[in-house]
Amino acid sequence: MYERRHTQQISVGKVPVGGGSPITVQSMTTTKTADVEGTLQQIYALAAAGCDIVRCTCNEQEAAEGLAQIVPRSPIPIIADIHHQYKMALAAMEAGVHGLRLNPGNIRKPEHIKAVASEARDRCLPIRIGVNGGSLDPSLYEKHGGLTAAAMVESALQEIAYFHEVDFDLIKISVKASNVPLMVDAYRLLADAVKYPLHLGVTEAGPPPAGLVKATAGISTLLLEGIGDTIRYSLTADPVEEARAGRQLLEALGLRERKNVDLIACPSCGRAEIDVIDVANRAMKAFEDKKLPLQIAVMGCVVNGPGEAREADLGIAAGNKRGHLFVKGRNVAVVPESEMVEALVEWAEFIHEHGTDAAIARADTKLAEREAARDRSQLLDEKGADANDAGSKIVEIRKTVSD
Ligand code: SF4
Repeated sequence: MYERRHTQQISVGKVPVGGGSPITVQSMTTTKTADVEGTLQQIYALAAAGCDIVRCTCNEQEAAEGLAQIVPRSPIPIIADIHHQYKMALAAMEAGVHGLRLNPGNIRKPEHIKAVASEARDRCLPIRIGVNGGSLDPSLYEKHGGLTAAAMVESALQEIAYFHEVDFDLIKISVKASNVPLMVDAYRLLADAVKYPLHLGVTEAGPPPAGLVKATAGISTLLLEGIGDTIRYSLTADPVEEARAGRQLLEALGLRERKNVDLIACPSCGRAEIDVIDVANRAMKAFEDKKLPLQIAVMGCVVNGPGEAREADLGIAAGNKRGHLFVKGRNVAVVPESEMVEALVEWAEFIHEHGTDAAIARADTKLAEREAARDRSQLLDEKGADANDAGSKIVEIRKTVSD
């Protein structure tokens, strides 16, 4: 859909990154890596939520030993996150991880960086150069007069130079900052300077919903410019939320094939016959773990709902204490209001298995359309064409202004 920047391809385990491969979703475990069972449980939950690659901290010997047990049982590739101790990078490779993340601001001795890169080269393992605005090398901070996009990019380029000295090229880079415009600038600058795949993220974005907004603003701006090969939402939340958000963003932008329900819902208005927020939330929950790649609509009224959501595969609109189900804009069934969510799930599963044509064919569309027309005209009779009473408000406004 968008012209993507051409990058060199690397592989994290069996998952390709860059070089035109699908954009991947990453997250990070929050358990102690030494807690093998707890960490694996989180990794399985992340994989189920759409995470392609997971990162675990490797900050002590016990963590590296934990990784040796986690890696062979993990359903997705594992990257070890390394900050201050280069020896932990060597230990993680020994444990069998599929890649490393090094923070150049925290491991600064060239001989240590080169020792890690040489080992990764011999094992054909990729390394992400993970520059982080909050832990930038102090000398670069001083040279650039503070935290700037150029300073972050220079940090990455310095690390690349050390890697090249030992002939290591399996590189992926991130230049994350918590400030969205700064992060966007840094990635744009970096994309012009290197051919390596880029890992996008807004660091320390915070708890949802503000964290989700910040991360989405930064990541999607770049993705729409064709920049970015893998993404991570850094939220102060259960990491499963991060994986879900990443997956949903890629599906919404058409960058990954839809695997989950795309729930659309009207914003509700004076015409609504149900509590749209409540029904939409219950529907969202009911579809959360179902892998149904369908667009499903929850609409507040049968007057406008089926028409406004006619592109949806399936939808429901309320009227006269009843739910009117529609498939591709055609009324197919009427159910009691209390059964709206259950009916949506049942029809969605049928459509997923047999398609929308079969769903329309199995319905008594004539009867459903007649019922919908009856409820529609009754509601129009009750509320009129101006359900929000805008007409009388306008009369009042004109009176106020002219007084
Ligand atoms: S007119 Fe009906 S479908 Fe449109 S916003 Fe109002 S309640 Fe929802």
